[in-house]
Amino acid sequence: MKKTILLSLLAILLSLFLPLPAPRAVSGAIPSAAAAPLPAVPCAPAPQPSPSPAASSPSLPETIRLLSGGETLELPLEDYLCGVVAAEMPASFPEEALKAQAVAARSFTCSGASAHKHGEAAVCADPGCCQAWLSEEAQRKRWGDDYETNAQRVRAAVEATAGQILCYGSAPVFAAFHSSSAGATEDCGAVWNPRPYLVSVSSPETAEDVPNFVSTVSCWPTDFRDTLLSLRPEADFSGPLGGWIGEIRRDASGRVAEALLGGVSFSGTELRRLFSLRSTAFELTLSDGLFVFTVTGFGHGVGMSQYGAKVMAEQGADYTEILAHYYTGTELVRSA
Ligand SMILES: [Zn+2]
Repeated sequence: MKKTILLSLLAILLSLFLPLPAPRAVSGAIPSAAAAPLPAVPCAPAPQPSPSPAASSPSLPETIRLLSGGETLELPLEDYLCGVVAAEMPASFPEEALKAQAVAARSFTCSGASAHKHGEAAVCADPGCCQAWLSEEAQRKRWGDDYETNAQRVRAAVEATAGQILCYGSAPVFAAFHSSSAGATEDCGAVWNPRPYLVSVSSPETAEDVPNFVSTVSCWPTDFRDTLLSLRPEADFSGPLGGWIGEIRRDASGRVAEALLGGVSFSGTELRRLFSLRSTAFELTLSDGLFVFTVTGFGHGVGMSQYGAKVMAEQGADYTEILAHYYTGTELVRSA
């Protein structure tokens, strides 16, 4: 276990220096559970790509209650979203990617996905639960001399999409997003409850676009065995090492759905959590006496890939095209 703990600590330390924030419930981490979104704002579709007020356009809240640092803050919705975009996506990303991020964050906030989780607050600033958020003070600390430039880029993206949300049917969508995918995004049903607008689609980013796109986690056999036994004590690792890895079944996106290890089934998300893997898109091999996970991409893989959005924007896509690509069958709607 010591090796695994050391590797986990190393991964945490490394993540502090990565250009994208650590994965989170919405954008990357594996949450304990994801509640089905409870539509908080009714809405009606409007034609893309130019969203316009419809007869029964959504009426978005002017303010949002945010749980941050043990306090409940009440902020103008659009100000809150600036803090989310600042926290969730590098301000250096293309304008259209930042706009897509702003709409995704606004849609998630208005979906009511976190309703009843935080008492009087609608959302929290915990990246492992709702959406990351940076106060102005925290933004100044992160960006230093680049604060004015970066804050302006973020605010421009939020303002350019003011009042716009994605709807599916009559409800704002649970607009999950993540850092990067290995060729295709994940079906929501593999991580949370299935949703018709969160199905696997292609994603264009490659190792040339994404820092640390491919990562590895290596374990000594004893660490590998003990970590797996901590979750499945019935697993049998009494045989030779070569027989510990059984069949590995993948889903349509290529991620690991299930792996037989020690004769017992582990889901990809369980293995990701146990070994602090950056995603469930991995190969597992026995190499030179070590069990080695070779992992591609970062995050749960559901919804919009942030690096995919970056690449699409660099290839000329606007934010409506990015959103339509990652959120299948949704409509972009603007509040009245
Ligand atoms: Zn939360």
